[in-house]
Amino acid sequence: MSIKNEYLNSLMDRVVARNPAEPEFHQAVREVLASLVPVVEARPEFIKEGVMDCLVEPERIIKFRVPWEDEQGNVHVNRGFRVQFNSAIGPYKGGLRFHPSVYEGIIKFLGFEQIFKNSLTGLPIGGGKGGSDFDPKGKTDLEVMRFCQSFMTELFKYIGPDTDVPAGDIGVGGREIGYLFGQYKRLRNEFTGVLTGKGLTYGGSLARTEATGYGLCYFTDCMLKGAGKSFEGAVAAISGSGNVAIYACEKAVQLGAKVVTMSDSGGYIYDKNGIDLPLIKRLKEVERKRISAYVDIHPEAEYHPGCAGVWQVPCGIALPCATQNELDLNSAKALIANGCFAVAEGANMPCTPDAVDAFQAAGVLFAPAKAANAGGVATSALEMSQNSMRFYWTFEEVDDHLRRIMTDLYRNASSAAEQYGSPGDLAAGANIAGFLKVGESMLAYGIV
Ligand code: NDP
Repeated sequence: MSIKNEYLNSLMDRVVARNPAEPEFHQAVREVLASLVPVVEARPEFIKEGVMDCLVEPERIIKFRVPWEDEQGNVHVNRGFRVQFNSAIGPYKGGLRFHPSVYEGIIKFLGFEQIFKNSLTGLPIGGGKGGSDFDPKGKTDLEVMRFCQSFMTELFKYIGPDTDVPAGDIGVGGREIGYLFGQYKRLRNEFTGVLTGKGLTYGGSLARTEATGYGLCYFTDCMLKGAGKSFEGAVAAISGSGNVAIYACEKAVQLGAKVVTMSDSGGYIYDKNGIDLPLIKRLKEVERKRISAYVDIHPEAEYHPGCAGVWQVPCGIALPCATQNELDLNSAKALIANGCFAVAEGANMPCTPDAVDAFQAAGVLFAPAKAANAGGVATSALEMSQNSMRFYWTFEEVDDHLRRIMTDLYRNASSAAEQYGSPGDLAAGANIAGFLKVGESMLAYGIV
């Protein structure tokens, strides 16, 4: 797919040539550049002053060895990454992902997306992302602790509360953040808000755990209401059963939907009576079991191996909350044929570009990840504020901020879409609104 602007098209060619074998990064950059065509046509200085060229090049990439020893005394060596992509509007901010699929291209794609997402929150945070190809699944707590300590022993040199503030992502939850924060505090001999997603006893924010999933539903609620629809009485299909999926399910049910599916990388469950969320929380958050164990307790529900099948289940609202490119064109066609009227991305880039095109062509409401899942990082920024103030807000106060941020974000993305000639296209609107604040700041700094 070519970009309808000569300069941006040649820039895209350079991105592909300079970052070979990184298809996820190419996909993310292409999608953003394509929607910035009307912006650079109205404001040619973004090209002339080098802003577009700088935008696609990370400010810094840190790559390091992470050696650790398992309980049997075997030594393992993983790779650690931190991509400090853009600090035009604030310290780098973005999660750490621990998953065997992690390589530099995945972290670059996530760091790039994070620039626009963070800008959209309206809060002063730049874009970054990190992680490792370490797989916490099947490891003991001691092994996870050893890995996290080794990872932080290298990473601590490059981060700080005013420089770069990591958080969780796939494979990095409360347990991992605790080990990482403990090691940072020990190495630096200081107690600062250098990580977010911390435990409530040591600087975490109430509602951070819930924030991405809740924020997804607040955003989706605005989008649905804008089209005269609502969660009330709708059937929803959710993929994933991690942090985002669990709290998306909780809020969707509170807003009146019936959620009938959840999944993990092994397969999905379909419970026509509505998912038993307390059971999912116990299986996933406490016992760390596979989702297939759900049908041992609810034999009337169905378990199907293979996660892509989740999109064959009829639903009105689809919330992909597992991982990138998990919903392809075939899945999109099945959702459309089954009457799905809204798709909102909880995971980062879960829908392939042709799936997004199919939704938009069929008039399905579509909420892009950059906007729809920004509630997590927004609440992380609220955690940073509370840490700086050495003060805590109540759950209700944080949740009120979150709801307001997601509502403003929806309004900004829709009005940018309208202003730049694609009314109703929230994907384009989110890219444009997210870019403008970053681009203006980069112009102000000159060539740096
Ligand atoms: P978790 O690790 O808590 O959960 C991830 C879920 O997705 C698990 O159910 C996991 O199954 C499943 N999954 C992971 N990889 C794959 C795969 N390759 N194929 C199928 N299923 C897979 O992560 P989160 O819930 O935190 O993150 C989910 C998504 O949301 C990611 O894209 C993340 O970048 C994004 N996100 C997260 C935010 C947050 O605040 N946590 C904020 C914004 C975005 P299994 O257990 O079997 O691996």
